Parts: sequence; C-alpha cells; structure tokens
Amino acid sequence: MKKFSEFYHDLNGEFRENYPLANLTWFKVGGPAQMLFIPENKDDLIRFIKKCPIKYPKTVIGAGSNLLIRDGGIPGIVISTQKVNSIKPFDSSLYAECGALDMTISREASKYGITGLEFLIGIPGTIGGGIKMNAGSYGMEIKDILQDVEVIDYSGSVFKINSDELEMEYRKSNTPNDWLFLSCNLRGEKSESHKIRSKMKEIMKDRKNNQPINKLTSGSTFKNPYKMKSWELIDAAGCRGLTLGNAKVSEKHCNFLINTGKANSSEIEKLGNIVKERVLKKSGINLEWEIIRIGNEIENEINHE
Ligand SMILES: Cc1cc2nc3c(=O)[nH]c(=O)nc-3n(C[C@H](O)[C@H](O)[C@H](O)COP(=O)(O)OP(=O)(O)OC[C@H]3O[C@@H](n4cnc5c(N)ncnc54)[C@H](O)[C@@H]3O)c2cc1C
Repeated sequence: MKKFSEFYHDLNGEFRENYPLANLTWFKVGGPAQMLFIPENKDDLIRFIKKCPIKYPKTVIGAGSNLLIRDGGIPGIVISTQKVNSIKPFDSSLYAECGALDMTISREASKYGITGLEFLIGIPGTIGGGIKMNAGSYGMEIKDILQDVEVIDYSGSVFKINSDELEMEYRKSNTPNDWLFLSCNLRGEKSESHKIRSKMKEIMKDRKNNQPINKLTSGSTFKNPYKMKSWELIDAAGCRGLTLGNAKVSEKHCNFLINTGKANSSEIEKLGNIVKERVLKKSGINLEWEIIRIGNEIENEINHE
C-alpha cells in the first residue's frame, strides 16, 4: 500500500493513508480507511478504477449519512465521491453525478422549474448513496424519478442501465457490491419555481419539527416492517431515550440513534441491537437495520463519562 500513491501519480485526486473516516460520516464515529482516495472528478474516478488492481478491496462512500463505520476501520481503499458532483438540467430532466447532494439537486431542479424532485431536499445524502439505498420520503423514492444510471464495476467496465434493471425496492437496490454508480438522469415535470419552492419549504419545516436533524445521527436506524412503523414498535418497547455510554435513542424520533458527542461505533451498534432485542421480545417483530454497518470491529469499553 505504501507505494500506492506513487504508482498512481497521473491521477489528480487526493490519496490519504490511514485516514480517520469518522470525519466523513454523519455519526462522526468509526476507524480509519487503510487508504482513502478522493477523485477530483468523474474521469479521475474512472481512470483510477480501471488501473487499480482488483485485488485491493474497494468501498465507496457518499455523504456518509446512512453509514455506521466500525471502530476498527475499513481495509483496502475507500473512495469518497464528494468531488464528483456536476449537475446539468435538460428540459424537464436533470443529469447528476454520483457525489451531487440530494439537497443541491432539489434546489437546482426548483431553479429550472422541474417538479417531482422536491422530496430530495430533506435527504442529506448524495444521489449515488440514494440510488444504492433507494432513498425516499414524503411518498416518493429515488426509483420514481430515476431514468438511467451510468455504472462502473470494479473490473473497470463502464455501462449504462435503465432504472428498472436495478430492481429497486424499499430502501435497497439489488445491485452487486462491486458496482459504483457514476452518474444518472433524473426525470421530473415542468412547473412553476415558486410552487416547487413552497413544497420544499413545507418538507423542511416538517423535518425540523419531527426529526433530530441537527444531531450526530444516520437517520432511520431500522426499516419499517410491512404496514408498521419502527418508531412505534421502539416506543412501545420502552426504548425512547434509552442510552448506552454516549449513544442514545432520540427522544424526538425514536427510530433515530444519536451520538451524544463522544460515542464510539460499537456503543451505537450495541444500543441498536439492544433496541432490536427489546422490540422482538415485546412485539415479536424482528427489525431490520436500514443503516449500513461496515468495517472491522474492535472491542471498545463502554464510555460512561
Ligand atoms: C438526518 C438524516 C435524515 C435522513 N432522512 C432520510 C430519509 O428521509 N429517507 C431516506 O431514505 N434516508 C434518509 N437518511 C439516510 C441517508 O441520508 C440516505 O440513505 C442517503 O441516500 C445515503 O446517501 P449517502 O451519500 O450518505 O450514502 P452513504 O451513507 O455514504 O452510503 C450508503 C450506501 O450507499 C453506497 N454508496 C454510496 N455512494 C455510492 C455510489 N456512488 N455507488 C454505489 N454505492 C454507493 C455505500 O457503499 C453504502 O453502502 C437520513 C439520514 C440522516 C442523517
């Protein structure tokens, strides 16, 4: 790995060894990436993957808003898409690169009078992460607006596929783990910008009132079981406000876990598993994690400061 950056001297992006990934996630926890690569743009990212031997494990991260990275960090190369973020409107559609933030896409769409993308204003991730997770809110999901996706797999093949080939379901796309979404086309309809903006304002107001959006969190911890709400099950199991060390179940929205400031990843994961157990015991429902947990575990002390 030491020689890695020398070998790839013709790339424009940044390489960082042993980089603390907590900086790149909403939870602000997690160990280091053995190697972090931040491509400068889409061409740089494609060039890198085409040259980088398949033997190096690769993990892609967007805004880190749906991730719990374990304290032992991630072996191999972590690719951050933060700078691969161009957005271009075309009539009632929009081209967006993987690292473009959902919020920015929503704002751009409103500027160009494109409706249908308002729900993205409340999702703090990138569109690449949104496609992987089939993110959604307020009755809409990415699959409702996704036309096609440009993909690169880790053997270096670049290809385009239609959204129906991604087999998107509630909070997941059924795609191989060695696919990285490079860019996509999103479709909307023409409307008046002021109407679009007022819908976006309503969404933001509702979020502020009902979710702990200014805390260190990763959004909904568990998927909603069929025709049920996870938060109701968690509440009924008596877990609202439950703490473990510096991890806490939000009082405001009890399907959100919070790092109260000094938590480590294992405290948050353990607290999530305690919630899961209590819900199972109380209601017989086995909650499924929505947050993606990745990386190596290390045994950490529970922090009682
Ligand atoms: C306050 C808050 C509110 C939230 N509200 C919502 C909500 O209303 N609805 C909702 O659905 N989610 C919500 N989330 C969760 C999160 O924002 C979404 O899941 C988002 O789509 C994740 O995008 P990301 O870029 O942060 O992905 P990351 O968290 O970085 O990664 C998530 C997964 O996507 C993969 N991935 C990332 N980029 C790519 C790429 N280019 N190609 C292939 N795979 C990729 C990663 O490997 C990982 O498996 C919320 C989170 C927070 C913190």
